[in-house]
Amino acid sequence: MTGIGVCPGLSVGPIVRMPDPVPEPPARAVVGDRDAEKARIQPAMEAVAAELRARAEKAEAETKAVLEATSVMALDPGMLDLAVASVTDRGLSAARAVFEAGNTFRDILAGAGGYIAARVADLEDVRDRIIAAVLGVPMPGIPDPGHPFILAARDLAPADTATVDPDKVLGFVTTEGGPTSHTAILARALGVPAVVACIGALSVPEGTTVVLDGGAGTLDPAPNDAAVLDAEKRMAARRGAIHVWRGEGATADGRRILLLANVGDPSSARAAAAAGAEGVGLFRTEFLFLDAATEPTVTEQEKAYTEVFAAFPHHKVVLRTLDAGADKPLAFLDQGEEPNPALGVRGLRVAFERPDILDRQLSAVAAAAERTSAEVWVMAPMIALASEASWFADRVRSHGLRTAGVMVEIPAAALCARQILEVADFASIGTNDLAQYTMAADRMAGPLAALNDPWQPGLLRLVQATGTAGAEAGKSVGVCGEAASDPVLAVVLVGLGVVSLSMSARIISEVGELLRTVTLEECTRLAGLALDAGDAQTAKARVRAELPQLAELGL
Ligand code: PEP
Ligand code: MG
Repeated sequence: MTGIGVCPGLSVGPIVRMPDPVPEPPARAVVGDRDAEKARIQPAMEAVAAELRARAEKAEAETKAVLEATSVMALDPGMLDLAVASVTDRGLSAARAVFEAGNTFRDILAGAGGYIAARVADLEDVRDRIIAAVLGVPMPGIPDPGHPFILAARDLAPADTATVDPDKVLGFVTTEGGPTSHTAILARALGVPAVVACIGALSVPEGTTVVLDGGAGTLDPAPNDAAVLDAEKRMAARRGAIHVWRGEGATADGRRILLLANVGDPSSARAAAAAGAEGVGLFRTEFLFLDAATEPTVTEQEKAYTEVFAAFPHHKVVLRTLDAGADKPLAFLDQGEEPNPALGVRGLRVAFERPDILDRQLSAVAAAAERTSAEVWVMAPMIALASEASWFADRVRSHGLRTAGVMVEIPAAALCARQILEVADFASIGTNDLAQYTMAADRMAGPLAALNDPWQPGLLRLVQATGTAGAEAGKSVGVCGEAASDPVLAVVLVGLGVVSLSMSARIISEVGELLRTVTLEECTRLAGLALDAGDAQTAKARVRAELPQLAELGL
């Protein structure tokens, strides 16, 4: 089976399917034996509590504490009484009674605010687990079969992917999703082999041993012994090949190119520093708050930002203000339904409606910047106009932060980069969104994945326009989309005028090694070959054919 490989690496293991989310039980009253119905509630709660306790025993530190706390929630006597009363008094089904009792308790938690409100997502999870136990269907969320496995899903929400334990999940395969979807980005951050848009992956029977190749983008649903052995040998060789990058990014003739990391929280920032990143080129702040039921306080934000900045003393850290909306809805924003969220109120557009949220975030960033020696740059997602860039830059500077930039993710911003760079200090190209808006292809849509390939010449022309504007204005233009995670494409991006590349920390050494072998003039020539191709595949093939060193570097 073929899909699109989004995180290289091989894995061999049994396939386990992501269960469907637990549906809302219907609100109608049940006819029949109310005593028998209510008797189903307590055993379901006990079963869920026991399962959570068993998982807590095997977990460590923070996860252990969270699992223990949720196991207590699952046995809450108040919730039990409320659910039982709804069956007795109103004749609800056990599942519906648990659903409503869970919601009542959830609303109480949410109303309490602060730390307590942050437990809302845990309570909803417990509620859905009890409903699943009552109904006898699989538990929701990332499965935990008690052994390592390859996860097959239709697609994964960023919040689900964020809870994946890379020691247990050997790989991901999804039938939907594109190469730049947030599932793909998080898989890459975890270093877990992943293939998206792999039609048929969900038809592989549960428990079948498969071979997943995240580099080639394939799933072998029935490997013979020789294929398994071969995969295991290649896995061992690759483990030996991964190494830490030391030094500074530069072309063979010495053109400095900063090699930066994309991070989402303090631990990924520390891992990036250990992997040899020269700084952070994209700190996706919304990743910290995907689960938060209420807006994190300034103090909470300041703490998280301080930890990220502290991982890079005296180095550049580019923080992106909240990019909520579209495929990253944030619970606390309650954005409502939009007919087409990717073209709706997302990124900086949320701040035009709620400038108070941006102001609180900038206060936290400024306070955190004061406490560390990192060189903090701040940028806004989803800028379309120079006037928006100017509005944002003024707000950033009014908080005492010196360097305000924009992400170039909308074609209009690339085409008007000169005007934007008159008011912004720098630009960073988000090729994931820039691809989807250039190609009119939803980045999460499996069937359109080829259009979202960052080698598309149309996209590269917009990168060139932005790079040229940056050079003329004497301002920094980088790339922080997934395009920079392809070492060969990184060479082309440098040829298009980009001066920094920001990527998953695991890729830095590969990008750095290849860049060292080419001169700036060669980068420019190779970029020309890509720009003149008719499609992504041809562009990639033409450039690869000119780089014989790829074989030696294992690329
Ligand atoms: C991008 O769009 O390329 C980008 C870096 O932002 P995100 O992937 O978080 O949307
Ligand atoms: Mg984006």
